[in-house]
Amino acid sequence: MAEIYDRARCLIDGEWLTPTGPVVHVVDPFTEMMIGEVADAGAELVDTAVRSAESAHHHWCRTDVDERAQVLDRAADLLERDGEAIAALVSREMGMPISLARVTQAQLPASVMRATARSARTFGWTQDIDGATLLRRGSGVVGAITPWNMPVHQIVAKAAAAIAAGSTVVLKASEMTPYDAEALAGLFLEAGLPPGVFNVVTGVGPTTGAALAGHHALAHMSFTGSVTAGRAVAELAGRGLTRCTLELGGKSPAVILPDADLGAAVPGAIASGLVNSGQACNATTRLLVPRSMAGEIADRVRAAVAEHTPGDPSDQHTRQGPLVSARQRDRVLEYITDAVDSGGELLTGSGKPYDGLPTGFFVEPTVIAGLDENARAVREEIFGPVIVVQTYTDLDDAVRIANDSAYGLSAEVWSEDTDGARAVAARLDVGQVKINGVRTRNRPAVPFGGVKNSGYGRELGTLGIEEFTDVTAVMA
Ligand code: NAD
Repeated sequence: MAEIYDRARCLIDGEWLTPTGPVVHVVDPFTEMMIGEVADAGAELVDTAVRSAESAHHHWCRTDVDERAQVLDRAADLLERDGEAIAALVSREMGMPISLARVTQAQLPASVMRATARSARTFGWTQDIDGATLLRRGSGVVGAITPWNMPVHQIVAKAAAAIAAGSTVVLKASEMTPYDAEALAGLFLEAGLPPGVFNVVTGVGPTTGAALAGHHALAHMSFTGSVTAGRAVAELAGRGLTRCTLELGGKSPAVILPDADLGAAVPGAIASGLVNSGQACNATTRLLVPRSMAGEIADRVRAAVAEHTPGDPSDQHTRQGPLVSARQRDRVLEYITDAVDSGGELLTGSGKPYDGLPTGFFVEPTVIAGLDENARAVREEIFGPVIVVQTYTDLDDAVRIANDSAYGLSAEVWSEDTDGARAVAARLDVGQVKINGVRTRNRPAVPFGGVKNSGYGRELGTLGIEEFTDVTAVMA
């Protein structure tokens, strides 16, 4: 009998509590079994948590920056100590392959904590400009709302920056992945973070999430999730004139230039598109290839995708896990059906529920070619293992197609000529461009965020810290 966890807990002012309220189940996407439950904490508990964070802020914003950085360094050590257990927890909650969970939900957040501590130590807390001294300090209570797809990393990207800035946090993590948030909160306490600096409320978006986003005592609302929920959050925050950071979706292009090393570019771009079963905001789900090379690249695409066979996420050889829920699986399959009905050609993938395993919300990795530029599968974020191939005639056409999107989060460019790739990168309307397979996970202080419907504001590094500070200009 698989282990069932106790109801997920809230952490308010350093005290754990188990909320009552309407309950939703947490389901293991591989076994399809219920593994725990979350209660909707509601507006009253949100208010208590915000008050606790507000009161902790008075002290925390005046602590020495090195003290704040040391807490993050200690929390990073603890996350590494517990990394295996936390990776296994995430894998159970949302089906991420364990090898990916180790790297992205334990090692990456630990390195983000350390990188943020380093950035804090060298941050321009005071600056002289035109006869004025600019003083920066933590702006107050940060409301943080996070999704399920890279859950620990997404919490840490916000929490580490806020803690470093001297701000305090009330987190509402995704109701689908509440247990890693609880584990992380425990590590912050163990690392010596004072009570009230990091608080957690459990619950669902439209009630507890909305109560947090609309709380008038927030200094900043930091949201990661879908465009629809981001819009709702920004509207609620706007009523209280609360500043927002929005990290939303993407439809990121991988541009393979004619001189790219195809042996590296095709499997690399495919891996970035299929990572986490395509459930990554910066997954490269549009593969842009020279029209004259489309046939050769199609063969390489099939070979690359064959390396991503679906499997048990707890098996360390699995590269492709299930989708997070039956709903998400069905949504993804609908996109594939729609693409085929609109004339798309399946280069690989059947478009049917994957039946190679007895349970699990699986969709076979799927690559579709020949779609019109306005097809839904080309324009909308699918959030599943589905990549579309788009062909271009020349460089200008490649840039035009890459930028022809409502989103602007991330892009890849592949070329043997790095300067040429940089020149293309400079023409892309996105927050981040990776050349020849650089991984964001290896650059934990590089700002992350988007333009257009991908949101605004930046996380990580000094820009991430700056988001959660206010500035006072003192002139004598
Ligand atoms: P989601 O928007 O449904 O939920 C995200 C979070 O918002 C959850 O905690 C949810 O409970 C909460 N929420 C939902 N509705 C809300 C409301 N009305 N008010 C307040 N809170 C609300 O997204 P998801 O399905 O959990 O995650 C997938 C989405 O997140 C994708 O669109 C993906 O691209 C995006 N994402 C973006 C980034 C980024 O950094 N840009 C990173 C990861 C995921």
